[in-house]
Order: sequence, then C-alpha cells, then structure tokens
Amino acid sequence: MDSKRGILIAGNWKMNLGPKGTQEFASHLRTNWKISLSDKTRAAISNGKLGAHVFPASISLAPAKEAFAGTSVSVGAQNVHYEEKGAFTGEISGPMLKEIGLEWTLVGHSERRQYFGETDESVRKRTESHLRQGFHVVFCFGETRSEREDGRTNSVLETQLSRGLPEKLSGSDVEKLVLAYEPVWAIGTGLTATPEQAEEAHEYTRNFLIDRYGREIAAKLKILYGGSVTPENIRGLLAQPNVDGGLVGGASLKPESFLSLLEGAGSLF
Ligand code: PEP
Repeated sequence: MDSKRGILIAGNWKMNLGPKGTQEFASHLRTNWKISLSDKTRAAISNGKLGAHVFPASISLAPAKEAFAGTSVSVGAQNVHYEEKGAFTGEISGPMLKEIGLEWTLVGHSERRQYFGETDESVRKRTESHLRQGFHVVFCFGETRSEREDGRTNSVLETQLSRGLPEKLSGSDVEKLVLAYEPVWAIGTGLTATPEQAEEAHEYTRNFLIDRYGREIAAKLKILYGGSVTPENIRGLLAQPNVDGGLVGGASLKPESFLSLLEGAGSLF
C-alpha cells in the first residue's frame, strides 16, 4: 500500500441483505464501532485515509442511506445504467441515486459480465456516464481461471482496461475513479490470489495507467483487490505497494467481519 493513496474497503453485498438485514447490519456497526475499532483505525477513517463503503442491492439502497446516516460508512449502488432515464426495464439511474444522496457506483463486476451481458463497451459507457454525473466509480476487471492457465492474464487485463476505461480523465475524474482487480477464479471460491499474484496484476495495471494517463495521474488512482478477501488475509494483500484496498463479497456480509476488515486495514497506518 502506498500510504499517499490511502486504503478503501468496499463491501459488495451482491443479492444479499434486504432492507431489514441492512438495518440490522448498520445497527450492529453503530453499537460496535468503538468497541471493535482501535483509536488508530477510527482516526484513519475520520481523516479520510481509510474509506468504508458498502454496495447493497437496489432495494436496500434507500434504507441503507438512512441506516448509515451519521456514520463513516458510505453507500453505493451495484448496477446503474448509463442513460439518465428512459425505457430500460429493471434498471436504475444516476439521478435516482442522487435523489437519495448516493455518490458511489460499481461497474463491470464479473458477475454482471458473466450473467447479464455486460461488455467492455457497456462498462465504458457506464464508467464515463457515472463520472460525468459526478459519481465515484469502482471499475472492476479481471481474468478467468482458464485465461490465467493459458498465460493470457496480462492480455485480458489490457483488453478490459483499454476498452472499458475512458480515453482521458479530467481532474475530478481522477479523484473519483477507483479500479478493482478481481480475478474471476478467486471470487467466492476461497481461492484468494497470493499477495505476489495480486501485486503482479496490480503492477501491470499501474503500468497500463501510466501509459494511458501519465505518471502523475496513475500514481493517484487506487487499485483495489477483490477475490475471497477475509479478515485473515487482508493485511498481507494490503502490504503490497500497488494494492490500495479490498473489494469484498462474502466477508463483508457480517458486520463483525466488516469491522475486522477495517481493523486489519487500519492497523497498517
Ligand atoms: C466480489 O463480489 O467482488 C468478491 C470479491 O466476492 P468474494 O469476496 O466473496 O470473493
């Protein structure tokens, strides 16, 4: 972790935790915040060095915004269309999120790519549109197991990054764009990438960002790692110079575990 960039812990709740579960999660977090988090971790969160984010299902967004009000946890949406309104049954839009005060979106998750037809092209449209609308965007990418076994990891990352990311970034985009390397073979499988495997992909990504946007911008962009992150393995991953946080599925669903992830990250400051 490069301390200048800080750390971000983002919980992707996927299709879990409805409004009731969301309220229970938030209430547990409030009660245990001071008990479970050290002074150092709470200070890192208060001074903005450590970010805490959750991405609930659409139906839980408004309840989450309310339930986490006044806490340091920010709420984002897992799936937001690139158009601002219109005939797109089942989708939600940026302006709808703004109405309830949300500032974060997630794009390009491998499950959206695999099951819901997301392509690099639609990922780029969403990324550009959300940034233009002023959202912080977590842009996910990563190779499958067979792509890795065939020795194609770097070329897959190159394709997803070059096709999915905007050609240019404005100053405010640089503040708002976050990347998340998520090897598909590690998501929900318990097969976490080793810190060395993660760093190798993150370093490749950092070099791509240098080529695309220049050294100064590339140095500012956070690259999270996602794929079976747990309170037990998070410190080793975050110790890598180009790993700036975690995008966490399963281990973010229980408030105790989410707090442990924050504490693991906080202990590195
Ligand atoms: C994810 O959904 O982005 C993810 C990384 O899931 P898990 O942590 O469960 O592997």
